[in-house]
Amino acid sequence: MAEDSLRAAAMGAPTLPGVYRFLGTGGRVLYIGKARSIRSRLQSHLSNPGDRRHQLLLEKAVTIDWTVTGNELDALILESELVRIHKPSLNVDLRGTNLFPWLVVTTDEDYPRLVATRNPDRSRIVPRFGPYPDSGNLRKLMAFLMEIHPLRRCAGTRLKPRPRPCLMGQINRCPAPCSTNEPERYQESVKAVLRIMSGRWNEARASILQRMREASDELRFEDAAGYRNLLHRLDSFGWPAPESASDMVSRDVFAVRDNWGIVVQVRGGRFMGTLRLPFGAGWKLAEPGERISLLIRSYYSDNRDIPREALCAVLPEDHQVLLNWLRARREGRFSIRAVKTGPMRQLLDTAERDLEHFLARLEWKRPAGGKERRQAALEAVADILDLKAPPAWMVCLDASTHHGDNPVAALVSFRNGLPDRKGYRRFSMPSELGRNDPGMIGEAVRRFAAGLEGPGPDLFLVDGGIAQLRAAVLAASDSLAETRFAALAKREEQIVTAPEEKVILLPKDSPPVLILRGIRDEAHRFVLHFHRTGRLRNLTHSVLDEIPGIGPSLKAALIREFGSVERIAAADESVLCAVPGIGREKARRILTTLADRS
Ligand code: SF4
Repeated sequence: MAEDSLRAAAMGAPTLPGVYRFLGTGGRVLYIGKARSIRSRLQSHLSNPGDRRHQLLLEKAVTIDWTVTGNELDALILESELVRIHKPSLNVDLRGTNLFPWLVVTTDEDYPRLVATRNPDRSRIVPRFGPYPDSGNLRKLMAFLMEIHPLRRCAGTRLKPRPRPCLMGQINRCPAPCSTNEPERYQESVKAVLRIMSGRWNEARASILQRMREASDELRFEDAAGYRNLLHRLDSFGWPAPESASDMVSRDVFAVRDNWGIVVQVRGGRFMGTLRLPFGAGWKLAEPGERISLLIRSYYSDNRDIPREALCAVLPEDHQVLLNWLRARREGRFSIRAVKTGPMRQLLDTAERDLEHFLARLEWKRPAGGKERRQAALEAVADILDLKAPPAWMVCLDASTHHGDNPVAALVSFRNGLPDRKGYRRFSMPSELGRNDPGMIGEAVRRFAAGLEGPGPDLFLVDGGIAQLRAAVLAASDSLAETRFAALAKREEQIVTAPEEKVILLPKDSPPVLILRGIRDEAHRFVLHFHRTGRLRNLTHSVLDEIPGIGPSLKAALIREFGSVERIAAADESVLCAVPGIGREKARRILTTLADRS
């Protein structure tokens, strides 16, 4: 019955562009859509109930409402606004973007700041970049921007004038607009930050290079070294994109599969972040062009970080409308390209592969059937490595250094495919092994074997290739005589077996590779954590611990304020005194000790 009244309502709809709403009982908005001709689109909804979403619409909707707009572009804008307000249950539900932080430049303030936030105030019309799925990358990016074009660091939308800058100004980590009167210069820095964030990374590189040359010509070698480090940091954001992206054009790459979409952000020739977004059930039934269109619309509706171009496998169904909308929002050139072949296809392949692996991992982690899947994967591991039975105990070893310093190794243990944290081990390495990865692996295997009480693991995995595997096998003592050794190399995820050193290459999403990769990634995480905490301890221990009267809390305050021991040593006595708890005498003691040690 309701279906008949819906059909009658559709017949009465205008053949003009606009937005339509399917309403349920009590006026609840179930679905919002836009169309070039409202009547045709409604009729196609009602005559084509092929997927679950359409069936639900017909079951739950009691009436249809619409709004005519001047053109399709206005319809698109109105549709995204209404979807944002009503959050209809049958529309595509873009969840997940609020989980990640954004970088906001508060240009509506007299002295704008850089703010990282997961909940940006959407009523403020200010540039917002992101979201950044990797918050570590965002922190690095902010620190870089603040170093090259410093902005004020104090909170509050209004800057209160001060007779003297705070500690941040005194140690030159803030341009101190609170006590200087140079608003034009400050605004120049804000513009430079915005230029970099809009993708002009080459400009940042050129500016740093220029400053480095000037510093070196003026024999300010310390400053020149600082700029060189800045260049290294510029190259450390995200991870390198293929050669094809070296044209430095900023772009987003969109791909869809099943009920998921992925957006890969490419900025300045580097991958800056990957955002995987789950959509509502039934989405996978839509046509690829419709799915890409929904993904692009949903992603940019809340995002002002619009690059020069978007790449996808097929053009979105309303390609021209999206172009007009995004060009207007970007206030500049914007294009959407469907790439089938050529250099840009590599970027799209990367996005599609990432989503494919992610979905395979998701399937793997799903609790239902997890135990059976794990068991099947362990059996597959036994098959490919020629083990008598599925490995009940597996360990994996990884080593790490910081440019050859602070060498460490760490081992993780898995029982029946699950982490066994009690079996995790950490090994500090002699410093002479710093640049010898196989040497560290051998040393750690020796120490692990020496500490064994009872039989060794069924499988000993090392992170690396043939060199690491050989070192592990050579170092294995009798207690590891029954253990099978193998190495898992990064990138191609190839498995190298011992003693025959045969290379096995399996699909990356095959169960044995997934389980071995999970163990290797856990070893990698564990060794990096060990390495970082050790380095931090060494850093603060080395000098500050030796100064009488400087306890852990003062040490932490100094490192927090200055960032490094070198910066503390370079500070003025009066600046040090600004740190709570540091008086003249302590400041002198710190500076004298650090000067003696330098
Ligand atoms: S120096 Fe002034 S502007 Fe800078 S952080 Fe301190 S109070 Fe804010």
